[in-house]
Amino acid sequence: MLKRYFQPEIETMSPEDIKALQSKLLVQQVRHVYENVAYYRAKMDEAGVTPDDIHGVEDLYKLPFLSKSDLRDAYPYGLLAKPLSECVRIQSTSGTTGRRVVSFYTQHDVDLWEECCARAIVATGGSSEDVCQVAYGYGLFTGGAGLNGGSHKVGCLTLPMSSGNTERQIQFMRDLHSTILCCTPSYAAYIGETLKDMGLTPDDIDLKAGIFGAEPWTEEMRHDIEKSLGIKAYDIYGLTETSGPGVAFECEAQDGMHINEDHFLAEIIDPDTGEVLPEGSKGELVFTSLDKEAFPLLRYRTRDICVLHREKCSCGRTLIKMSKPMGRSDDMMIIRGVNVFPSQIETVLLKEGYAANYLIEVDRVHNSDTLDISVELLPDQFSDTMRDIEIREKKLAAAIKTMLGISPKVHLVSPKSIARSEGKAVRVIDKRKLHD
Ligand code: ADP
Ligand code: ZN
Repeated sequence: MLKRYFQPEIETMSPEDIKALQSKLLVQQVRHVYENVAYYRAKMDEAGVTPDDIHGVEDLYKLPFLSKSDLRDAYPYGLLAKPLSECVRIQSTSGTTGRRVVSFYTQHDVDLWEECCARAIVATGGSSEDVCQVAYGYGLFTGGAGLNGGSHKVGCLTLPMSSGNTERQIQFMRDLHSTILCCTPSYAAYIGETLKDMGLTPDDIDLKAGIFGAEPWTEEMRHDIEKSLGIKAYDIYGLTETSGPGVAFECEAQDGMHINEDHFLAEIIDPDTGEVLPEGSKGELVFTSLDKEAFPLLRYRTRDICVLHREKCSCGRTLIKMSKPMGRSDDMMIIRGVNVFPSQIETVLLKEGYAANYLIEVDRVHNSDTLDISVELLPDQFSDTMRDIEIREKKLAAAIKTMLGISPKVHLVSPKSIARSEGKAVRVIDKRKLHD
């Protein structure tokens, strides 16, 4: 029979039992960090808190936060809690924003991470009958390694493609009958587009599910990918600092991601004041690892903005759910005084019938912010007259203005003129930063 859960005893544990488990693990994890990480011990000493003050999750608020700047200050070994001789792996962030950070793993940590990814694969209906094509980048980036390990734990036949060489991805997908595809959503969209360009349809491949994450993507983009590849597309979330992908994963409900709460304790805080907000509030996601050995982070501020919900899920899992992060607090642009997330613009583009091939350019000219959005025309719109295209540009600009409250300049450009991404897409160029 098809397994519904990879680890049912954890994934369907009662909320009371989860809390008890988290409390027990937290007490141990805090002691481990205090005794082995001088950098964090100094922070705790400064805050006047010792491991004796932590009796369970209700005491979490007493602990100081860690932020990405702490990781950079402590680079490379400052937050390491085990001797290097006990570590077996290093991974690193993709460096989307600023300097890279590195994370260390013992064999226990690798197993824990891979189990989290295995839960994500099983949640999409994956089993040992599946062929799992991993098209996340392999190497320092956590995407390839995490899903590769998870796929092995489930017993799927693993196809470690890494990213790139898109036609060959499709060739292997057909020859070897891949049923699950793992990559970034922007790469999945590109694979879908290439499939069509090769004169093929979803009927020519055997894919049934995709596990896509590592960058923000909208519901509209999900629908487009599902259609172009003939699959169900599931979200997966994680960051290098907490292990990698698999911190949270989507189930058949496709309505938010279950957090692996036996390993990661989540909080939502007000990003400006640091105040802990009640469940259901939108704010910055903060994670505390509960049983990592080499690189345990307590109250790590992710800068990702989302909402937590604990409710009965139709899949039977009891693990708390997080909403799709709508972007990082540092993805947010302030344009003419208005807060703008790229995901808001993407939502409008897809609703208006365009694909997610766009580039946002922000600049400052004569002390005033400019917002230029280049969007690709679809092939069948390309033959429109100049006048038709101008009308389309105006219509799109008006729709974006309704969403954001500020007027952009929209440029419709020829199909395929905006570079495609094989990993995390670059959608924003903020030239104002160059002038600062
Ligand atoms: P970098 O910070 O260099 O991008 P990572 O590769 O560790 O390094 O990226 C982690 C970040 O990627 C997360 O903090 C989050 O902003 C983003 N991310 C990961 N998964 C998702 C997802 N499913 N949806 C939205 N954003 C995601
Ligand atoms: Zn569920």
